[in-house]
Amino acid sequence: MDFHYDDQNIFAKILRGEIPNSTVYENDHALAFHDIQPQAPVHILVIPKGAYMSLDHFAAHATPAEQAGFFAAITAVCAMSDVGSGFRAIANTRAHGAQEVPHFHMHILGGRPLGPMLAM
Ligand code: 5GP
Repeated sequence: MDFHYDDQNIFAKILRGEIPNSTVYENDHALAFHDIQPQAPVHILVIPKGAYMSLDHFAAHATPAEQAGFFAAITAVCAMSDVGSGFRAIANTRAHGAQEVPHFHMHILGGRPLGPMLAM
C-alpha cells in the first residue's frame, strides 16, 4: 500500500494550532478532542500527532513510542468518559470506509446503547 499524507487536512490544521478544538487529553504522541458533530453523548476523536492517513498506515509505520502514546490516549479518554457500560471504537478508512478526514482518527462513541454495528 502506497500511503500518501495530505498535510492540508483539517486535523493537521488542528495539530498545527490553525483551527481550534475542544481538547480532552493530550500527550507527546496523541491528541483527543470532541467531535464537532457528536453522534452520541460521548463522541471523542483520538488522533496521532504524526502524519498518518489511516489505521493501516499508522499500524504499519508508526514507531512503538507513537503507538504506545496513541493507546495511552485511548486509555485516558475511556477512563474519563461515560463509557463504563460500553462503547464503540471506529476507524473509518478510505473510500469504502467513508473516511472524510485523511488523518488517522479513532472515534470513541458511547453514553447510550449504540444499536447494531452497521445500518443496512
Ligand atoms: P470520518 O468520516 O473521517 O471518520 O470522520 C471525521 C469526523 O471529523 C466527523 O465525525 C466530523 O464531525 C469530524 N470533524 C470534521 N471537521 C472537524 C473539526 O473541524 N473539528 C472537530 N472537532 N471535528 C471535526
